[in-house]
Amino acid sequence: MRTEIVERPPILRSINPATGEILGEFKNMGEEEVKEAVKKAKKAQKDWGKIPIKERGRWILKLKEHIRKNIEDIADVISKEKGVSRFEALTSDVFPILDLADFYAKNTEKILKREKVKIGVWNIMGRESYIEYFPYGVIGIISPWNFPFSIPMGQIIIALMAGNTCVLKPSEFTPKTGILIKELFKDTGFPEGVCEVVTGDGLTGSYLVKSGVDKIFFTGSTQTGKIIMKTAAEHLVPVVMELGGKDPMIVFDDVDIDITTDAAIFGAFFNTGQVCASVERLYVHKKIYEEFKRAVIEKTKKLRVGFSSYEPWGYEIGAVISEKQLMKIKEHIEDAKENGAEVIGGEIKDLFVKPAVILNVDHSFKVVREETFGPVLPIMPFETEDEAIELANDSEYGLTASVWTKDIKRAKRVAEKLQYATVMINDNLITHAIPQVPWGGVKNSGIGRTHGKEGLLEMVQVRHVHTNKLGQKMRAPWWYPFSKEKYEFALSLTNLLHSPSMKEKIQAFLGIAKNFSKISKQKLNE
Ligand code: NDP
Repeated sequence: MRTEIVERPPILRSINPATGEILGEFKNMGEEEVKEAVKKAKKAQKDWGKIPIKERGRWILKLKEHIRKNIEDIADVISKEKGVSRFEALTSDVFPILDLADFYAKNTEKILKREKVKIGVWNIMGRESYIEYFPYGVIGIISPWNFPFSIPMGQIIIALMAGNTCVLKPSEFTPKTGILIKELFKDTGFPEGVCEVVTGDGLTGSYLVKSGVDKIFFTGSTQTGKIIMKTAAEHLVPVVMELGGKDPMIVFDDVDIDITTDAAIFGAFFNTGQVCASVERLYVHKKIYEEFKRAVIEKTKKLRVGFSSYEPWGYEIGAVISEKQLMKIKEHIEDAKENGAEVIGGEIKDLFVKPAVILNVDHSFKVVREETFGPVLPIMPFETEDEAIELANDSEYGLTASVWTKDIKRAKRVAEKLQYATVMINDNLITHAIPQVPWGGVKNSGIGRTHGKEGLLEMVQVRHVHTNKLGQKMRAPWWYPFSKEKYEFALSLTNLLHSPSMKEKIQAFLGIAKNFSKISKQKLNE
């Protein structure tokens, strides 16, 4: 068998998928360049890690203000690189970062403060413990193209607040946004090396995993996540994985149909359906199914498909990012058609897909089982609460789910039974934009958390400091030499602490008192 050697292109082209316009050329970086970036970040961390948290917060607030002042220019770069409207880029990719910067700048010190731990009987025996947190060092961030600003920028801010420095590998489809992130730090005046960016393809990402970084934060497909975990395991690099989703929306029969159909459409088609938390399965109660689906279809037809850099609000549905992504969407639509589903919409022109509503499907269809990541919405009816829960949970994924009803008690009851890391009641999509709460997935949707207190704790190591206040005054009764008295002392202590009988406890106490002074004098050199 012959082996074909395919050379990597040295350059990545950033192209607007909506227009084909070339937006820039960026290096497809090799192993040495990645190592060099990690070296720089490691050097920078030595000083950055020593800066008090309050001062780090001041830096982040400076960055926040720089982003706010340039919000339209930043959104413009993102919008062109993704081929979606500037309105979408501004609201979903840049705006949430301002709140996130604020939250971590003002709360990191409180969350990471040293914490005394009650250690039960050990406290009585003259010991005390506290835990404190310290940074990992250099955090490697590998991010996708669908939110090329908010996903990595959020993780970078959290990493920096915790005292780490970062190396970011943006998606090969959005290198320009990646470089823009680096420039924002530079323009704000951050020390060199605090936020390094390595542009390149998947191979560049794999170099980053084995480059000596201290932890990897990966956001992307479950498939790539598994590959990264294998490489990370070889180097014992800890990972946080933010992976794919197939998120269900459950609609009960008491909803306001007008509002809830608007929500379903937004949840399914926002960012051209290319959101990990997109509504990819819609379950509607049988009683309102007909009326609901009619409204969804009617409203979907009104969505404008296209791209304009002059009118940021001109089109709701932008382009799909790539040919590969388009093929996946096409495959799901065709599979549905071939198996007897009714598809309304779904026509394709260049990299644009008319949003599609799919009816007469069940859980045997690809479009219901696999992540589509496009503007496609399958709708299915259900009859009972239990059935809705069972259908929603019948997935390999567990990112977000939403429950829609006026009966909040019922919604909370349902939420309790959903195997998802986030459950929204009468809302969808937005929780990644709420920095105070954890973001992550269960099952094949991920490992670990970003955002919230939990996300900050992923960026630090835990140090336990234990003090024996009697350590310079007396020997511990379990040290050498072993003796009969020490053995009896151990048995008495067991009963004193753990016997349910008061009588045994008193006997044990007397046993300890009897042996204690003898034990404390027993030493090896006597
Ligand atoms: P991919 O998994 O294809 O890529 C994600 C990142 O990993 C990219 O930067 C990619 O580089 C890089 N990469 C690819 N191969 C490797 C490798 N072997 N080693 C290291 N890095 C590698 O995902 P997409 O970019 O297509 O993003 C879409 C996916 O992301 C969807 O599944 C979506 O659900 C998920 N996602 C999850 C989120 C969450 O929070 N749970 C949020 C957003 C998206 P390159 O681009 O060059 O291939």
